[in-house]
Amino acid sequence: MNKKIAILTSGGDAPGMNAAIRAVTRAALQEGWEVFAIYNGYKGLIDGELYKFSRKDVSEILYRGGTILGTARLPEFVDPNVRQKGIENLKKYGIDTLIVLGGDGTYHGAQKLVEMGINCIGIPCTIDNDIVGTDFTIGFDTALNTIVNAVDKIRDTSSSHQRCTIVEIMGRYCGDLALWAGICCGAEYVIIPEKEFNRQELLDNLKTHHDQGRRHAIVLITEKITDVEELARDTEEYTEFETRATVLGYIQRGGSPSGADRVLASRMGAYAVELIKQGKEGRCVGIIDNQLTSTDFVEALNGKKRQTNDNLYNVFFKIR
Ligand code: ATP
Repeated sequence: MNKKIAILTSGGDAPGMNAAIRAVTRAALQEGWEVFAIYNGYKGLIDGELYKFSRKDVSEILYRGGTILGTARLPEFVDPNVRQKGIENLKKYGIDTLIVLGGDGTYHGAQKLVEMGINCIGIPCTIDNDIVGTDFTIGFDTALNTIVNAVDKIRDTSSSHQRCTIVEIMGRYCGDLALWAGICCGAEYVIIPEKEFNRQELLDNLKTHHDQGRRHAIVLITEKITDVEELARDTEEYTEFETRATVLGYIQRGGSPSGADRVLASRMGAYAVELIKQGKEGRCVGIIDNQLTSTDFVEALNGKKRQTNDNLYNVFFKIR
């Protein structure tokens, strides 16, 4: 079977994308297929930025953060006429399958291409861990380690100055990063979008904590829930705990992928090639209970994420 496949990275970058690009390329080349790299996501697809990749093109990228292919946001991709240009570029090179690496926006774009007759395979790459059909996304573990590292440092200052620090964590509408980091760092409180935020309960908790003479407190909160500067002011006023807010920001997205992310990306990349070999179409790679699996794009976009959160949330409050 002489196949021609293409690969692109889209949406936010995530550590481990390069490891997945390498795995896809090498596994496909071993099958005797041709591999085309598309630069700058869907934008590159419509601009015709396609280049044939050899084994050497993916040398020494396994340990690099970001994506060597670059990524771009292209809102115009919702327009079928714009997508048609991309399809024509794929046809020009005789490409039969497109592998997309990204988050749910990227999957929306791929689903639209599937509807227009192009076979796409998705690989979940986002630090947010917010994709349906997989327990873990590529990049989550590295971001978690970055956060743990940062919060450990913040704790030193918090403790020295006897402060409460409220740390805003990425995740969009998924609290996994904040919750997992909360357990890793022994935070005093975590606030995640899956659980209703009770401001008064938090303030009462921190006041008791302060009145008991504790030297510091760390609160981890997922982005978009509330204004953390305002929350810090409220906390200081109510609890008499000197309080600071810290927004970790883009530091969470960068860096060399962790060992776990390198393994996950390598497994998922090789599995994507396996799915194509088996003739599967319109599938998204996932890992559930450490078993590689796949779902179709519609399910990945509309299904409900398996919640491992409840257990972890209970553990957090039992051991804090
Ligand atoms: P992250 O989770 O890191 O933000 P993402 O893949 O969700 O990654 P988006 O910017 O939402 O990032 O999507 C990436 C690209 O996918 C968009 O710039 C656009 O080109 C395409 N895309 C997103 N939504 C759609 C849609 N509904 N239809 C067609 N294309 C889409």
